[in-house]
Amino acid sequence: MVQAARVERGMVRPSLEVKGLTRAELEHALQEMGELRYRAAQIFQWIYKRQVGSFEDMSNLPKALRHSLAERFTLKLLSVLQEDRSRDGARKFLFGLEDGKQIESVLIPDEDRMTACLSTQAGCALACAFCLTGVMGFQRHLEAWEIIGQIPALQERLQSEGRITHLVLMGMGEPLHNYEATVKALRVMTEKEGLAFSPRRITLSTVGLPKALEKLGEEGIGVNLAISLHAPTDDLRDQLVPINRRYPLKELLEACRAYPLPPRRRLTFEYVLLDGVNDRIEDAKELAVLLQGLRCKINLIPLNEAPEIPFKRPSRERLLAFQQVLHDQGYTATLRESRGWDISAACGMLNTEAVRKGLFRNKRAFFS
Ligand code: SAH
Repeated sequence: MVQAARVERGMVRPSLEVKGLTRAELEHALQEMGELRYRAAQIFQWIYKRQVGSFEDMSNLPKALRHSLAERFTLKLLSVLQEDRSRDGARKFLFGLEDGKQIESVLIPDEDRMTACLSTQAGCALACAFCLTGVMGFQRHLEAWEIIGQIPALQERLQSEGRITHLVLMGMGEPLHNYEATVKALRVMTEKEGLAFSPRRITLSTVGLPKALEKLGEEGIGVNLAISLHAPTDDLRDQLVPINRRYPLKELLEACRAYPLPPRRRLTFEYVLLDGVNDRIEDAKELAVLLQGLRCKINLIPLNEAPEIPFKRPSRERLLAFQQVLHDQGYTATLRESRGWDISAACGMLNTEAVRKGLFRNKRAFFS
């Protein structure tokens, strides 16, 4: 929790950012203040449905309660330092955190959808070989409120252009490495009195830490899971996704098979295609065998290239050939171009260090 100290009648009290609290936690805090629990629902409505900027604005709460809430809690908005717009409509936002660290989020409009791609950490510890956030290294976990706070801040930027309809935890960081804050954030996202996202409209993307997956299943939140697989064998995955050395494929796939998927839902496996590395026909065949019996679909992502990444995107021909093998084996496999490449907002491109150093400016037009 953010420990902004406040001095009150000579006593120092820590104040908490209210967006970091689940409804149950806020109810508990209210009870400790001698208030009624149902006020938590009202407060959630003010923050997330009406997006008020202060406790004072919560006009159906008694004045004394508004006052004591303001004494105990903060109600902050993340500050946007920079916005970039892609020629394909994606918008990338650079947020400044209170300790000077920076994170990025992306808004992706698509027909009747508006997807917000959120970060869960500043940087990332996992160092996947093709990911620019990995190049940046790990800076710190985000607090629950910093994860949640990206949503109202993005929504404010959207104004009348529409509402965010889908959330993906696919920005900077590994959500399951920051487990407690991520789960808290998921609870706030799905809280009916607040943001009220259906869990079906939320996707958590992860390298797949087996123990954390098991725990997440037990939480019963029911969000969609996307597992970043990227290789069909341990030898290859060890090189591309180094955490595989600690949690090899067998353990990961066991955790996936044990995951309590809601009826009619499927896991997604993400597979970044790297020319000559993991995109051979044999790789596709091995992948098909590896995923046998799993209720899943496969999301093939052609590599987003960058100078710091020592791989190339395969030719269209190779991409299609890989996809065809999976189709022939009965899988749903989509070949997805990620959005916002020209502003470095595409999958694996988020790197605030590069923003700071002024790299990535005037990127050549990829889509034209
Ligand atoms: N840590 C999480 C979420 C962040 S990355 C995870 O690993 O799933 C979101 C997706 O983008 C992941 O599947 C990741 O492997 C992929 N990605 C990373 N770098 C990429 C690149 N250069 N090109 C295409 N996709 C990339």
